[in-house]
Amino acid sequence: MKIGFIGLGHMGAPMALNLLKAGHTLSVFDLAETAMQTLADAGAQRAASPKAAASGAEWVVTMLPAAAHVRSVLTAKDGVLAGVAKGVTIIDSSTIDPASAREFAALAAAQGNAFVDAPVSGGTGGAAAGTLTFMVGGSAAAYESVKPVLSGMGRNIVHCGDTGTGQVAKICNNLVLGITMAGVAEAMALGESLGIDPKVLGGIMNTSTGRCWSSDTYNPFPGVIETAPSSRGYTGGFGTDLMLKDLGLATDAAKNVRQPAYMGALAQQLYQAMSSRGDGKLDFSAIIKLYRAQNE
Ligand code: NAD
Repeated sequence: MKIGFIGLGHMGAPMALNLLKAGHTLSVFDLAETAMQTLADAGAQRAASPKAAASGAEWVVTMLPAAAHVRSVLTAKDGVLAGVAKGVTIIDSSTIDPASAREFAALAAAQGNAFVDAPVSGGTGGAAAGTLTFMVGGSAAAYESVKPVLSGMGRNIVHCGDTGTGQVAKICNNLVLGITMAGVAEAMALGESLGIDPKVLGGIMNTSTGRCWSSDTYNPFPGVIETAPSSRGYTGGFGTDLMLKDLGLATDAAKNVRQPAYMGALAQQLYQAMSSRGDGKLDFSAIIKLYRAQNE
């Protein structure tokens, strides 16, 4: 299939590479030249704009930081909606708020295109391995139709309900993730200060009731999990500013339905403190730096 792919960052690049490996033809666009070069080297066609990437495509996938970027990539003069053929489905895998997803679906529908929100979980490792979970919001028919594309990038493709519910699932999941990472960081830093070997503590946690993705896959303490961003200077994972954005989405959504989000609001402040001290681009597990200040 011919796919237009826009947004080739930490997640988008490995996802697009997997689509190429699955035998699809890709026309790609990103503002970053290095990202474009990586995909061109792997056999993708370079497009000069989102409009050009979408022209002639049978599917369009976007993987961008936040709703503002998705809005501009879809609606700008040289945007996707200006180039996409009628009947083509647009798949947005960025994490954004459910209301914006519904707005984009309405804009697409007005010109004869389906739009599904299909945010992912699984991190950069899952993106590279093609084992992502996709949380799909849209009609049952749209869900069935996007499965062959998404299965080139992920293992679990779940229909969450109507447009926007994929994003609801995603922001609830990341609410848990932001909180558990802060919890694991707090415990690992306390263990260090109390004199236990962090590798021993991490091992115990991962076979005990404290085990979670933040402890067994992305442990924030350097050297506990060799493949985690913490073991490579907190680079190449899920940026702190993106986690801050997701906790903002969760607490805003909670406010809109008058639902308390006590832990989420506190976690949001911790990532905000990290971002304010200049660590916004580091992987979010670098939150442990707030706790280890006296040991670094
Ligand atoms: P990223 O910042 O690494 O990549 C975003 C890419 O979009 C960059 O290459 C940037 O140049 C490009 N971009 C921005 N504006 C653009 C525009 N107008 N036109 C074309 N390209 C543009 O972000 P990421 O880590 O790949 O995350 C992407 C999305 O996936 C975010 O919404 C994030 O919350 C979500 N997500 C990330 C992870 C993760 O582990 N990194 C996991 C799950 C979900």
